[in-house]
Amino acid sequence: MKTFVYIDHFKGEVQPASWEALGLAKTFGTAVALVFGAGVDEVAKAAVEYGADEVLVADDASLTDYRAETYASTLSALASSQSPDLILFPTTARTRELAAMSAIDLNTGVLTDLTDLEANGDSFAATRPIYEGKLTEKTVCSGKPVMATIRGRAFPKPNREEGKSGTITKVVAAGTALSTVEGYSASESAVNLGDAGIIVSGGRGVSNNPSLTPPAGMDEKQAEVWRAQQGFALVTELAQLLGGAVGASRAAVDGGYITYAHQVGQTGKVVAPDLYIACGISGAIQHLVGMRNAKVIVAINKDADAPIFKQARYGVVGDLFAIVPALTQTLKKKLGK
Ligand SMILES: Cc1cc2nc3c(=O)[nH]c(=O)nc-3n(C[C@H](O)[C@H](O)[C@H](O)COP(=O)(O)OP(=O)(O)OC[C@H]3O[C@@H](n4cnc5c(N)ncnc54)[C@H](O)[C@@H]3O)c2cc1C
Repeated sequence: MKTFVYIDHFKGEVQPASWEALGLAKTFGTAVALVFGAGVDEVAKAAVEYGADEVLVADDASLTDYRAETYASTLSALASSQSPDLILFPTTARTRELAAMSAIDLNTGVLTDLTDLEANGDSFAATRPIYEGKLTEKTVCSGKPVMATIRGRAFPKPNREEGKSGTITKVVAAGTALSTVEGYSASESAVNLGDAGIIVSGGRGVSNNPSLTPPAGMDEKQAEVWRAQQGFALVTELAQLLGGAVGASRAAVDGGYITYAHQVGQTGKVVAPDLYIACGISGAIQHLVGMRNAKVIVAINKDADAPIFKQARYGVVGDLFAIVPALTQTLKKKLGK
């Protein structure tokens, strides 16, 4: 079985789930990585090191910026000439668009945001959570090739074998772009919760430390936000020590304690880290749907009856303003930092 794996990257920075897609492809047979862009030799080399049997590289000035028209035309042309059984993508905003557009050219269907994919003969059965994870949907696609986007961190990432050599084949870019990218500007939503292996999150509880005296002249709301900032400083210190990212509940975001880019849950990010530490978060269903796929959940909460403890593998009943710094200090010693 032959699988194309689209390696999604921005200016050479690869979306990590691309490598997870490559690992999945290898379990079905031959994995051919597709690398599009301009000046993408390093990405192609990395694809070999992550286990691609072959890398098809479309390196062309017309592909400098992602545009659906040129990328989809290039992908469709390659799929038409090489007839893969399956085309895998990491799930991103770009790949949803690219896969859909190319599927029209190839007269096939797209299965999106999969958490499992099984091969049955020459067909595939896909699994994905729907309705905020309340239901799991099983889908098959009768079109060929099957196109599927996989959810980040749902499949294992293969090991990288530095310096490995392999077959890299140049292919031509196709299509004409109708849109022009006029520029990029960085936003603070650079917080990458989706790829984080460890997330330490804070909720409304981070503002609850009456013993902290805010600077004079603050009204009640300002004092609450100030206290929350002290709480989030502890959460951030722990996250940084562990090399993780900082998450938040909606109550913390709505309270103005931290920006929306950090929100985990139904109306925030859905995450699946190896470790999720929830500090002062009650465990409302809308929060749980965003993080219950974490491998290990640790909850720190004053209220022994908080629903978060039902999801947590480890629970600490206590004041986060005492527990989080103690945990940070202990881990610093253990990690020799
Ligand atoms: C349509 C809709 C969408 C929503 N989407 C989201 C979403 O995406 N994400 C999300 O998170 N929520 C979402 N919500 C809101 C959700 O219902 C909850 O209101 C929210 O998750 C509560 O946040 P919290 O746990 O931080 O606050 P609370 O429920 O107020 O819990 C605070 C917790 O902190 C504990 N605590 C207090 N002080 C301390 C202390 N010093 N030390 C330790 N523990 C302490 C308390 O015991 C309590 O359990 C959504 C709601 C709706 C209706």
